[in-house]
Amino acid sequence: MGADRKLARWDKIVEYFRLLDDASDRIEVVELGKSTEGNPFLLAIITSPENFRNLEEIRRTGPTLAYSDDLTAGEALVKTGKAVIAMAMSIHASEVGGTQMAPELAYDLITGDSPYIKRILDEVVLLLIPCANPDGNMMVVDWYNRWLGTEYEGGPMPWLYHKYVGHDNNRDLVLMNMSETKMLAKLLFEDWFPLAYIDFHHYGSFGGRYYIPPFVNPTDPNVDPLVWTEQQLYGGAMMLKLEQAGKTGVENYAGFTAEFNAAYTRVCSWHGICGMLTESASAKLASPMYVHYHQLQPARRGRPEYRAHVNFPHPWPGGWWRLRDIVEQQKVSALAALEVAANYRETLLRNLRLKAKRGMEKGESESPYALVFPPSQHDPLTALKLLDALRKLGVKVHRADEEFAVDGIIHPEGSYIVFLSQITRPYLLSTLRRRIYHDSPWARSPEGTPISLQDIAGYNLAELMGAKVVEVGKPFEASATQVEEIPLPEGSVMGSEHGYVLDGRLNDGFKAVNDLLKEGIKVCRADEEVRSGGAAYPRGAFYVPEQEGAAEALGKEAGALHLTLHPLEEAPEFERHEVRSLRIAMYQRYYGGNTDEGWTRWLMEQYGFDYATVRDKEIKEGLKGKYDALIFPSDPVPMITGEKLEEYFEKRFKGMRVFPKFPPEYRSGIGKEGVEKVKEFVEAGGTLLLLNEASEFAIDELKLPIINVVKDLKPTEFFCPGSTLKVEIDTSSPLAYGVAGDTPILFWDGPAFSIKLVDNNEDFRVVARYPDERILQSGWLIGEKLLSRKAALIDAKLGEGRVILYGFRTQFRAQTHATFKFLFNALIT
Ligand SMILES: [Zn+2]
Repeated sequence: MGADRKLARWDKIVEYFRLLDDASDRIEVVELGKSTEGNPFLLAIITSPENFRNLEEIRRTGPTLAYSDDLTAGEALVKTGKAVIAMAMSIHASEVGGTQMAPELAYDLITGDSPYIKRILDEVVLLLIPCANPDGNMMVVDWYNRWLGTEYEGGPMPWLYHKYVGHDNNRDLVLMNMSETKMLAKLLFEDWFPLAYIDFHHYGSFGGRYYIPPFVNPTDPNVDPLVWTEQQLYGGAMMLKLEQAGKTGVENYAGFTAEFNAAYTRVCSWHGICGMLTESASAKLASPMYVHYHQLQPARRGRPEYRAHVNFPHPWPGGWWRLRDIVEQQKVSALAALEVAANYRETLLRNLRLKAKRGMEKGESESPYALVFPPSQHDPLTALKLLDALRKLGVKVHRADEEFAVDGIIHPEGSYIVFLSQITRPYLLSTLRRRIYHDSPWARSPEGTPISLQDIAGYNLAELMGAKVVEVGKPFEASATQVEEIPLPEGSVMGSEHGYVLDGRLNDGFKAVNDLLKEGIKVCRADEEVRSGGAAYPRGAFYVPEQEGAAEALGKEAGALHLTLHPLEEAPEFERHEVRSLRIAMYQRYYGGNTDEGWTRWLMEQYGFDYATVRDKEIKEGLKGKYDALIFPSDPVPMITGEKLEEYFEKRFKGMRVFPKFPPEYRSGIGKEGVEKVKEFVEAGGTLLLLNEASEFAIDELKLPIINVVKDLKPTEFFCPGSTLKVEIDTSSPLAYGVAGDTPILFWDGPAFSIKLVDNNEDFRVVARYPDERILQSGWLIGEKLLSRKAALIDAKLGEGRVILYGFRTQFRAQTHATFKFLFNALIT
């Protein structure tokens, strides 16, 4: 494994693991399900034959220690339980080492007869995911083999290494939208609750050779300190074993922070599982790479020089770097982690119980005591989706059997209560509350420049999803029942001769409307409030007149989507317009693919929006007459036009990355010709949606009189690394129909707009703008003044058409449910 210029493809690795399964009583291979594109997703359980005889009992140890409400439970399990450790390989498919290493690790464990291996097998159960992204492995291997022996050998793929989400497959765990994530979440939080979880990655080619745990500062005080101390134990043993094996260039406490992000390692740590990752220096996939000593760089955090440090004791001197080096270092560290688990089995099991107890005790003695989801939500179905995700991540959720009062608020029966006395307390505290990022010496360079984070600074799911969550600051009693599954309302259709009303605040309503339109049912949208039968539906409600087939079609949608269709009790007199689905084109480029494009595709499919993917050729041929709307997902303008890419890379990465070489047929960009065609398309009546960074296309290429007021500023002048910001929303604009007026937007790498002083100001409708001050909701914002009163969302006229500039992440990772409607509203009109 890891031989020069050889990569094993997933189908062969599957075959190999099944062979091991047949040949050995130390391994069981389980297919957990299928990947997004239908490939087998495997778990290999490796332990002693004796342990296999008691596997079900061993499996229950983790969930019992983590979730039992009985404070005295677990002492016997701590003594007799086995140490369960999970490892997942190559979730990022171009980071090929892990999946190439896994078969060899498995082979060594099931054939080894040394006391060292036998002890590991006796004390430990290894849950090995040989490939956390099977589809990606196959794409990368095929790509690699295709260009072997050419000047493009070892170069990156032109597209995403997952059907939808590419590199963001490791940012999906909070809502589990992808099938791979669902399987892993069930394995970790429901079935096994292991003591530790490690995933194996690659980083760049010009730094250390191998990053191992622990993470570097800053950290999050909500996490149980036992997690960080365990990381030192595992990481210390890895460092020792690697040095002993002659592996140089190993570093820890560097590069990767102990702050929350939506990756497996962090979600695990926030749950009390010791979540860790390793990062190997990249070769050119399986091709060796030569690196000069003077090219070797410091780490972004934690290792300021390329010299020997306590956390980087033995620098690598440069030279050839090969996939085999990666396979070996990863295998040594994997075995070291298993050795720690074997040697400290009882301590680690005791720690797991201790983390659970501490969570329970804190939740009974420290504020906040609970988070309450009231039944009255702006979009109740979306709030239930959040609760469902929490359940699937092992969070205990209760439902109030009767009303209760606390902190001067009466919460009705049916309120969901998330008590904070549980092992997942740190996760809940860090992802469901307003959070102002702690600006500290760890967060800046010695000269005071803020350092980019590994994920967004304000990861508040309640804000991103528009769920109302009430924090309880006092101990209280409520009669409540724990729910295993979050029940969804049964949909219903109540009709009248005048037709049906569907609340425009529900995201799922858009799926229903898209389905209805495809069936030829007439649907209208109310341009003012609708009152019927004592209820009021805000502007933007959908109205379906009584017509042939309506009752049946609506019944189907209501049942499938849990929607309620209300009767309109009097003939409609409100302002309304008939809606239709637009013919949507979405631009796709090469150069590694665009994660935002993949997420957008996935989101559109979930909500029933048909779209066509268009590339340069279609754009240059012209979209006029073929489509009504064109979407540019978030992307810097040079990546869309394909012009000045080298300069763009130089400016953005300051010499730390050069633009990779792609075969000519995989270079993309719409060019001047494409820009002209896009302009023609809009002027003839088309709608152009420019998401986040792509908004600058309107400024740079379409020459709209708009300025990005935060362009090219130094981080000390303006810095907003993924934060929710307050905006004032013009809810009378059809683009904002159904959006809650107080919804914060997620700002990350975005523009903020000012309109130049022109005569035709009325052609630019500002749909969302920043307030004068106190703009930050959650996260980190330097340079607030620059945003004061500026526009965040502009609906601009251009000829007969319109250009919509979204200065924020309206559909980020399919997680920002609160602002999906800014996108949906533009596509049903
Ligand atoms: Zn990675």
